[in-house]
Amino acid sequence: MIFIAKTSIKKGNMDFKINYIGSKNFDVKNNRNIKYLIIHYTGMKNQASAVQRLQSRVAKVSSHYLISKKGKIYQLVRDENVAWHAGKSRWEKDINLNSKSIGIELVNNGKEIFPKNQIKSLCKLLIDLKKKHKINTKYILGHEDIAPKRKKDPGPKFPWSTLADLKLSKKR
Ligand SMILES: [Zn+2]
Repeated sequence: MIFIAKTSIKKGNMDFKINYIGSKNFDVKNNRNIKYLIIHYTGMKNQASAVQRLQSRVAKVSSHYLISKKGKIYQLVRDENVAWHAGKSRWEKDINLNSKSIGIELVNNGKEIFPKNQIKSLCKLLIDLKKKHKINTKYILGHEDIAPKRKKDPGPKFPWSTLADLKLSKKR
């Protein structure tokens, strides 16, 4: 179980800093409708190799944000541009969700517990993005939801109930 300071977030302790590091892997858009926030884990052995991959011109993948285990938030692609994180995907009538979504990567090799500070930063970022882009709670999803045959992230260890307590996800 992860107990995060729900009250401190609700009382408006929303301070967080975003460190822009950039990636060239994106499509330029000026006016797009952001409907989904998609949560991933990196699934790599460490943060450095994950960042390298998200910036690699060969790998051709990226995300808008990456959150370290300590809860530091990095931005690789600006919200208005399309990052390459979802791949072949589907939800309701939407297909290939990159163009309508923001992707958030959590540093995690796929087997680890998500540290409390990482989830706390994720919640703060989700609250901010949800408000900024007017996202419906039901469209805050995991990669495994939109590409169930191909993807397992953020996986069974991800604390959806913590998000649900903050109205950042539907109960599941
Ligand atoms: Zn993913």
